[in-house]
Amino acid sequence: MAVPKKRTGHSAQGKRRANWKASKPATTKCPNCGETVLAHTVCTACGYYKGKPVSKKMVSAPVVEEPKKAQEVKEEKPAKAKKTSTKAKKAEVVEETKENKEEVKTEKKEKKSEKTSEE
Ligand SMILES: [Zn+2]
Repeated sequence: MAVPKKRTGHSAQGKRRANWKASKPATTKCPNCGETVLAHTVCTACGYYKGKPVSKKMVSAPVVEEPKKAQEVKEEKPAKAKKTSTKAKKAEVVEETKENKEEVKTEKKEKKSEKTSEE
């Protein structure tokens, strides 16, 4: 087993940790609505992916406009909907994680404010 020859000092430790930065998530603009979207995920604003309606948001909208065709479409679309639901879930999970991070940040701020108030 590799063993460090010398102890890592506080300075070296700090310099190493100073380069640990959070990176921005890869985002693109939705070709349909222009909304900023996470790469390789369904657009959360309009429900399009690769120029095709994929999410339930957009599938339900055309059905209202054309009720006769909707019955034919319904037979075909459940299979697609199942596939897309997993992608949509991934997108939702990503959003949830973002929200969680924001919540954690706010909680930390609150804790700090509590400490300062106690003093
Ligand atoms: Zn969009």
